[in-house]
Amino acid sequence: MHDVIIIGAGPAGLSTAFWCDELGLDTLVLEQSEDVGGQLHRVHNPIHNYLGLKARNGEELLERFTAGIDDTDFDLWTQTSISSVDLTARRISLASGEELQSIAIVIATGVRPRELGVPGEKEFVGKGMIESGARDRDLFAGEDVCIVGGGDAAVENALLLAHVCPTVTLVHRGKKLRARSEFKEQLQSMHCITVFTESVLTRIMGDERVEAVEIKRKQALKPFQLAVRGVLIRIGVEPNTELFKDQLETDERGYLVVNSQQETKLPMVFAVGDVSNPIAPTISSATGAGATAAKVIASRLNAK
Ligand SMILES: Cc1cc2nc3c(=O)[nH]c(=O)nc-3n(C[C@H](O)[C@H](O)[C@H](O)COP(=O)(O)OP(=O)(O)OC[C@H]3O[C@@H](n4cnc5c(N)ncnc54)[C@H](O)[C@@H]3O)c2cc1C
Repeated sequence: MHDVIIIGAGPAGLSTAFWCDELGLDTLVLEQSEDVGGQLHRVHNPIHNYLGLKARNGEELLERFTAGIDDTDFDLWTQTSISSVDLTARRISLASGEELQSIAIVIATGVRPRELGVPGEKEFVGKGMIESGARDRDLFAGEDVCIVGGGDAAVENALLLAHVCPTVTLVHRGKKLRARSEFKEQLQSMHCITVFTESVLTRIMGDERVEAVEIKRKQALKPFQLAVRGVLIRIGVEPNTELFKDQLETDERGYLVVNSQQETKLPMVFAVGDVSNPIAPTISSATGAGATAAKVIASRLNAK
């Protein structure tokens, strides 16, 4: 029996673990990936908005976050697959068959990029699918590329790639781009960027790697094909809640609902970080929420 089991070891889960450890709680962290850090592995741009720390990218910030981990007493199990969770009993079954029990559970499972769900999207991973304009710029320099999405991330990536790619085609299903005006203004001066609004990408094609995409415009009867060598999809994120959503209250977008103490509706079950739909889904919100949850858990346990 542990005091606390934390599910997920991104910034929110790690912060909760460090705080629980400092507060003397017997803590176990379960992470499905090989490594801790969550979305920090996908941040290839400099991070200047975490108070007091400047990092070249997410990996560098993660190094700072985990620098003191050897001095802590919490247990951390990576590559751990959870098969089911009974949140009322606070019992967790692992795919290995092991059963775990704790007084409190903290859900810190974050979000994942939303998929388009079109043919070719999964098949061409590593064969023309671009993960990040910042990271993959040199790899796609001189190639025609297509970007799907209309928010900040999509337009920012289009602007980045427009410096090295002969053509960048931005495909957005809405009438207007949602990106901030500063990005949209920059788009006007980038003549190699073509924007197709009210359009959807319906297929990614190629033999060994991406060679073309199929785009359907709202007004057109038939889709058309466009030759490209790279495709980047930035259509938002969705919460990792599959294990819990039938047991907890979720909002209309599937995020876990918590109060100001990071508590869900179930006793001693907390949710922190991006999975709980913070107003600002950022590293600082995630680490702050971890501290709140740990403090609340410690005060509940001490009151017993
Ligand atoms: C490209 C990009 C740039 C960004 N730039 C900034 C920035 O400049 N500044 C800023 O503040 N924020 C930035 N962010 C946002 C920031 O990274 C997130 O807000 C933060 O990582 C949220 O932390 P989290 O711990 O809640 O979730 P995550 O980082 O998503 O971590 C969740 C963890 O839970 C694990 N997990 C999921 N499901 C399970 C399961 N069933 N069992 C076990 N483990 C599980 C995941 O593997 C992951 O390790 C950026 C994000 C991206 C993608």
